[in-house]
Amino acid sequence: MKDFKYFKPSSLEEASRLLLQYGEAASILNGGTDLIVRMHEGLSHPEAVIDIKGIGGLNEITFDKETGLTIGACVTMKEMEKHPMLLEKYRVLAEACHSVGSCQVRNRATMVGNITNASPLADTATPLLALDAFVQVYASEEGIREISIHDFFVYVRKTCLKAGDIVTGVRIPNYDENVFGHYQKHARRDAVDLSTVCASVVKVGGKIRIALGSVAPTPVRLWQTEAFLEGKSLNPEVIEAAAKIAVGEVNPITDIRATKEYRQEIVGVLVKRGLEEIAK
Ligand SMILES: Cc1cc2nc3c(=O)[nH]c(=O)nc-3n(C[C@H](O)[C@H](O)[C@H](O)COP(=O)(O)OP(=O)(O)OC[C@H]3O[C@@H](n4cnc5c(N)ncnc54)[C@H](O)[C@@H]3O)c2cc1C
Repeated sequence: MKDFKYFKPSSLEEASRLLLQYGEAASILNGGTDLIVRMHEGLSHPEAVIDIKGIGGLNEITFDKETGLTIGACVTMKEMEKHPMLLEKYRVLAEACHSVGSCQVRNRATMVGNITNASPLADTATPLLALDAFVQVYASEEGIREISIHDFFVYVRKTCLKAGDIVTGVRIPNYDENVFGHYQKHARRDAVDLSTVCASVVKVGGKIRIALGSVAPTPVRLWQTEAFLEGKSLNPEVIEAAAKIAVGEVNPITDIRATKEYRQEIVGVLVKRGLEEIAK
């Protein structure tokens, strides 16, 4: 690992100033479970590492009926997976957090690091897409702005964030009813493995929402499949037809985890299972 300067600012202003000063040579350090691994492997060699864990207010989960649930950037997966509000109202997200790595990883890893790393298979991306979340971003000149999660992912390991941007949290709207449905992760083994395909299939606001990971350069919402399901009752024929549409809506690749054809097969299985669960 190359030498680097380590900073631990105590305010967003200070962190943003450092980010702008070092430009592309700076990296934000959160839980470090992606960044430090990449630095060890020589895939990333920042000159300045800016640890945001000393900034107040980034490690809270708050709920408000008007704005919904806000999860601070430094809240860990472990804190999320056992949070009562998540378990009651947004269980699909708690399930996704629980599926990440091992207990040790989840004690450090954050959801914000997970989505900012922008892997197409990031476990927490699909529940956030299904729930129409917003990413809250601080930039020194603009203050805090919100970006729809649907605009956040641009390509493999690329988000729409600009130089100097710091994600301060994620906001999920408040829905009148609890989100119904589950997170499913299909991997080569049950624990400490990355998804071959992952899926969030939920019902909220009277509508089915489906999001998949590891089937395209970014995690995706299945808008066509959802449109097909609109107003239909979930009988076996409808579920079968929806699963077929879902397979046609994605464009997975072959890589070390699976072939394109295997992933397509699994997409059909996960969508079908998710819809059957909702139909019960
Ligand atoms: C053994 C192991 C198993 C794993 N298993 C899984 C798994 O099953 N599923 C899965 O999805 N991932 C897995 N991961 C990957 C990793 O744990 C997650 O992606 C994690 O959520 C990243 O969060 P972090 O807080 O550690 O991020 P960091 O490593 O600190 O940061 C990740 C990236 O996000 C940027 N960043 C972080 N916070 C901010 C912010 N507030 N604003 C702007 N940029 C920011 C950093 O600069 C960096 O580029 C695993 C990792 C390990 C080491």
